[in-house]
Amino acid sequence: MRILITGGAGFLGSHLCDRLLGMGHQVTCVDNLITGSLDNLAHLMGHERFRFVQYNVCDYLFFEGPLDAVMHFASPASPQDYLEFPIATLKVGALGTHRALGLAKAKNARFFLASTSEVYGDPLVSPQPESYWGNVNPISPRGVYDEAKRFAEALTMAYHRYHGVDTRIVRIFNTYGPRMRPHDGRVVSNFIVQALTGKPLTIFGTGSQTRSFCYVDDLVEGITRLLMIPSDRTREQRTDRQSFLYKGGEPAGETMHDPINIGNPHELTVLEIAKKVQAMIDKPTQLEFKPLPADDPKVRCPDIRRAQALLEWAPKVSLDEGLARTIDYFRKKVG
Ligand code: UDP
Repeated sequence: MRILITGGAGFLGSHLCDRLLGMGHQVTCVDNLITGSLDNLAHLMGHERFRFVQYNVCDYLFFEGPLDAVMHFASPASPQDYLEFPIATLKVGALGTHRALGLAKAKNARFFLASTSEVYGDPLVSPQPESYWGNVNPISPRGVYDEAKRFAEALTMAYHRYHGVDTRIVRIFNTYGPRMRPHDGRVVSNFIVQALTGKPLTIFGTGSQTRSFCYVDDLVEGITRLLMIPSDRTREQRTDRQSFLYKGGEPAGETMHDPINIGNPHELTVLEIAKKVQAMIDKPTQLEFKPLPADDPKVRCPDIRRAQALLEWAPKVSLDEGLARTIDYFRKKVG
C-alpha cells in the first residue's frame, strides 16, 4: 500500500512508520516537527520506500500520484504539549483533519484517525466502552485536545456518511515505550527520568487517580489490524444518505468504521506506577506531591471487547516487560 502518515515523526507515528515499512508498504511521513523529532526517523532516512516531508498539515495537502491510505496522527498529545500549543492543537484536530480527509477523498484512499481516550473526558463510567459519550469540559485548558479530537471524530464520520470515505477511528489510551521524549511531561516518562537522575518523583494530587498503560508495540499491532481490515461495503453503500437523513443511519458501534478503543485494561493508580518505577530503578528517590492539574481525569481504563471481537487483538506485553524496555531506552538517553 502507498500510505501517507501525518505526525509520522512523533512517538507513535514513528513506530507506525517502522511497522508499515516492515510490512512492505510505501510510507510518506508529513510532520511540522513542533513536537515530533527527526531523531525518531533517522534510521529510516534513505530507505527506498520512505519519504519525509516537513509541512504543516493544516495547510493544503499536495500529493502526486495514487494513495491507498491517509493516517492522521499529527497533534500535540501530552497534556504539557497541548497546554503549550492550545491553538495549534485545535487547528490540527479541526483543519488538519479536514485536509487529511479531503486528500483521502480525492485519492479514494482509506482514512485512519488517531483519536484518544480523552474524548471520554473525566469519565463517569469505567471501564469506558466506545458507546460512552463522555464527560468533557469544553472550556478547561485540556478541552483544546478533547474537543479537537471529538470534532475530528465527528468530521470523519460525516465524510464517511456523506462522501462514502472508507474510514477508521482508533481511540488510543495511555501508551508508553521507547521514543517518548524525556521531558514531554507524561507520567511514565517523567517518573523514569526522575528516578534515573535521582530526582523526586512528582505525584500530581494524591496519586489516587488511575490510568491503564499500553506498550507501544501492542498499540501499533492493534492499529495495523484496524487499518488492514477491508470494508464490508462499497463506497455507494457507505453513502446511504436517505437512511442517514431520515432514519438516523445505521446503529452506532457495529462496523469497522465506528470508533474502537485500543489500550491495555491493566489499571493502576499513579502512586502505584511511581512505586513500580522506583522498585525497578535502584536509586533512592523521594515522592513529591504537587497540585492536580485542572480536570485531570480521576479514572481511565479501556473496555476492549470490540477490539477483541473485531480485530482479534489483545495486548501481550506486560507492564513489567514494557517498563523494563522503556527504562533501558531512557538509561541510554539520560541515565
Ligand atoms: N502525573 C503525575 N506526575 C507527573 C505527570 C503526570 O502524577 O509527573 C499524573 C497526571 O496528573 C495524570 C496521570 O499522571 O493523572 C497521567 O498523566 P499523563 O500526563 O501521562 O497523561 P493523561 O493520562 O493525563 O493524558
